Amino acid sequence: MTDLTSLTLAEARKGLADKTFTSLELTDAHLSAIEKARVLNAFVMETPDQARAMAKAVDEKIARGEGGPLAGIPLGIKDLFATKGVRTTACSKILGNFVPTYESTVTSQLWRDGAVMLGKLNNDEFAMGSANETSCFGPVGNPWRREGSNTTLVPGGSSGGSASAVAALLCMGATATDTGGSIRQPAAFTATVGIKPTYGRCSRWGIVAFASSLDQAGPIARTTRDAAMLLRSMAGHDPKDTTSVDIPVPDYEAAIGKSVKGMKIGIPREYRLDGMPAEIEKLWSEGAAWLKAAGAELVEVSLPHTKYALPAYYIVAPAEASSNLARYDGVRYGLREQGKSINELYENTRAEGFGAEVRRRVMIGTYVLSAGYYDAYYLRAQKVRTLIKKDFEDCFAKGIDAILTPATPSAAFGIGEKGGADPVEMYLNDIFTVTVNMAGLPGIAVPSGKDAQGLPLGLQLIGRPFDEETLFSLGEVIEQAAGRFTPARWW
Ligand code: GLN
Repeated sequence: MTDLTSLTLAEARKGLADKTFTSLELTDAHLSAIEKARVLNAFVMETPDQARAMAKAVDEKIARGEGGPLAGIPLGIKDLFATKGVRTTACSKILGNFVPTYESTVTSQLWRDGAVMLGKLNNDEFAMGSANETSCFGPVGNPWRREGSNTTLVPGGSSGGSASAVAALLCMGATATDTGGSIRQPAAFTATVGIKPTYGRCSRWGIVAFASSLDQAGPIARTTRDAAMLLRSMAGHDPKDTTSVDIPVPDYEAAIGKSVKGMKIGIPREYRLDGMPAEIEKLWSEGAAWLKAAGAELVEVSLPHTKYALPAYYIVAPAEASSNLARYDGVRYGLREQGKSINELYENTRAEGFGAEVRRRVMIGTYVLSAGYYDAYYLRAQKVRTLIKKDFEDCFAKGIDAILTPATPSAAFGIGEKGGADPVEMYLNDIFTVTVNMAGLPGIAVPSGKDAQGLPLGLQLIGRPFDEETLFSLGEVIEQAAGRFTPARWW
């Protein structure tokens, strides 16, 4: 039998349906791959017993012809998703050994459709970061290395464990979340496909909150088709999240292979940065040429407020984070550090439980929301956010179907190489992705090429609200033209 871990999700679905192998065999193949790849630190909790039990149960269902759309498919779950009876920490010390008594809506829909949970995946603490270096469980290794080098690179963040595990063939797909780029940037760094759907498409219920007006869940997968299959199960209205939208979930997979002829693709001139590596520039033109060859029309567009997106994001996101993270006080759950008074208990717990980056965000957030600074920072950032959204609306009003940009300004970098002295150096990773969260739009990152050192690079497509289907159709064109990329195994 060929190595079951190298199949795509769609191929595995066929193999399971044809009874070429069972879910238990597929699950066992992935569990043993996970064991051999512990050096990557992608999983913070392996759940082999649960995985085998789920696989056996689904095998029985498949035998009875009752398997759902993801029947028997082994997945990894970002540790930001609450999983009933399985430790969920958001990779923060402050959550300690928190074991939820409930399941997030997104993961419960995956289990409803027959998927199997392999374990919980590493991420930046509370999803704050772009390199998976802020996790209390330590950094994640990218399965990709520079040609001829032994340096371990970051997989991007905050969904670094998800991206690394999918790229290293440890799971067939993974859940992830994206507040400013955390699905798309790690996907680009690992040659995987990541889609952040429209704000409101997936329920946020049971996902540890970072910045509630920006957070969205989405999948990281090996192909656009696999991502489409996963999103279909993850998306949908949930009365428990008032921001989730009550519109039907399309069959996203039907968009794969659909013609893109006549589509208008915007190329935003403001995304051409000074000092951007020539390879990224080249990749962008190549991507545009592929879409053109498939019959799409390229149109230069302007998104004039792009340059304010990152500074505005670093006001809005920390402001919301400081409010969301106020609940971690050592009283109800997680870590508790005693003190002489209740205030001291709060202070000791929070000082001990939060890592440096999270403390920085809480301080920035508290500052921009404080009396006297609220108007100057927070309110101003909200106004800028409206302008950023309007830039996109103007574009779409002119008949643009989707916008093509690079996903990241560089390829993956080494652990510890960025952001040590200046956090902004790290924040710049999301320069092309934050605008999309600020506007609430869907965005997909698709592997598109390699840099001179052999590292993968990705392109991003940004769509109209709730038009993920167009992104899947266009993403597939890029995937077909660029081919698929798999890292050479060194672990
Ligand atoms: N890198 C960004 C941040 O640190 C975005 C993270 C995310 O999307 N969760 O805030």
